[in-house]
Amino acid sequence: MNIILLAPPAAGKGTQSARITSTYHLKHISTGDLLREAMKKGDEMAVSIKKVCDEGKLVSDDIILTLIENELKDASGVVLDGFPRNLTQAVKYDELLESLNQTLDAVIYLCGNKEVLEARVIGRATCPSCGTIYNSMIEGQKPQVENICDHCNVALTHRSDDNKETFAARYETYMHETEPLVRYYSSKGILTEIDATQDPDQVFVEIQKVLEKIK
Ligand code: AMP
Repeated sequence: MNIILLAPPAAGKGTQSARITSTYHLKHISTGDLLREAMKKGDEMAVSIKKVCDEGKLVSDDIILTLIENELKDASGVVLDGFPRNLTQAVKYDELLESLNQTLDAVIYLCGNKEVLEARVIGRATCPSCGTIYNSMIEGQKPQVENICDHCNVALTHRSDDNKETFAARYETYMHETEPLVRYYSSKGILTEIDATQDPDQVFVEIQKVLEKIK
């Protein structure tokens, strides 16, 4: 099963990917996570990736496609989180799947209005130790103690691009580059739209309804 999660920033791609991955035993490929790992290296490439991400723009297709090709090598079923983000990447992914004799089974489009997503970006925090994603703006996703991981008891971290200014640029990039993919996949008859501003448990129930049909 190959699935794409298509969504504006802070719609819950990471949270829902984690749930899908553990329920359906798929590999989770998040290009955002891969880029954040690459940024930790501190080399020239890391500095230039961080600059692009902090400006809310897209990292070059060449870098992204190299990352994706490496990740897809041994994977038999994947949840793609944050890829493809433009038409070039979408077409390239179609070609890659064809060369591997695989098909794209579903595209889950998590949609939500800009104001709700902006509030979520500001409330979002991650445990640097176990990776659990929290959100002080969403019931059911708040940590028990403010800014502390429930499992590891360590302070939560905030992404450098999770602020009001970068969100505005990321949203603009999304509308311009990524949103056109809604029509691209909808014309292939594999896209399902789900309201991402609902409770995350309800969002997952709706995702499961889609995935159970194609399992
Ligand atoms: P995300 O964690 O998916 O919100 O991604 C964080 C940032 O990484 C984005 O705002 C982009 O700057 C960059 N990024 C992630 N995925 C891609 C992609 N497929 N193509 C280009 N840039 C990406």
